[in-house]
Amino acid sequence: LNASGKPARPAEVVQPAALRRIILEQSKRANVGHIGSALSVADILAALYSGILRFEEPDDPERDRFILSKGHAALALYGALHLRGLLDAGTLDTYCGDGSLLGVHPEPALRGVDFATGSLGHGLSIGAGAALGARLQGSSRRAFVLVSDAELGEGSLWEAVMFAAHHRLSNLVAIVDWNGQQALGYTEDVLSLRGLPDRFGSFGWDVHEVDGHHPAAIGRAVDALSVDGPPHVLLARTTFGKGVSFMEGKIHWHYWPMSDEEYRRALAEVSAGSGT
Ligand SMILES: [Mg+2]
Repeated sequence: LNASGKPARPAEVVQPAALRRIILEQSKRANVGHIGSALSVADILAALYSGILRFEEPDDPERDRFILSKGHAALALYGALHLRGLLDAGTLDTYCGDGSLLGVHPEPALRGVDFATGSLGHGLSIGAGAALGARLQGSSRRAFVLVSDAELGEGSLWEAVMFAAHHRLSNLVAIVDWNGQQALGYTEDVLSLRGLPDRFGSFGWDVHEVDGHHPAAIGRAVDALSVDGPPHVLLARTTFGKGVSFMEGKIHWHYWPMSDEEYRRALAEVSAGSGT
């Protein structure tokens, strides 16, 4: 129990399988891609919205902040907001429609979204600012930033890494979706991330490696983080396209939408819970 006597971590509110189903349904209905990226972070978002993020109402200024730096996975965020009861089904069904607030990338006009993202490499700077702001205001709120592994190729991200270490922002948690691939290739071929834990460690961060498809393990890792000291990074090992066998590890599914047959097969796999 927390100080208010309420359960500190509710029962799993956002079920990963339900979230994956929404990702498939909506991307098929809208005929858009970024499916593999959304599936890659489905378990991380399920963990965040099933108790890690402390908030009662998304408008509460004392709520934890969440920045989806890899904004192209916005559909996973919309699905989590829906399953958490913050986004109704009718609005969810406007995804990528004319005039909808639910675009391929998130924007703060939508209740529950704090920051617009999608121009990659900037989310950690936003999170560092949010964390420093909380400290200056004497608030215990935290900032969580979900970044893609390929965003680590952006120089701006390492500026934020240095800034956060300098200010010892222990209320900042970066989660890296470490799936080893990006829009047009595998990170090992495009820009290697070998030795990634040591890279963060050498910049003064508190480094943890976690299974990015194990929500309970992610929750435990966050619970164990020190409330003082340096900023934290969870290097979450993930599989791009996780849960749909023919999408897993395939570059094709960064941008491509599904055919009717692919949709049928994907939905059947997710419904059966295979690969999760
Ligand atoms: Mg990636």
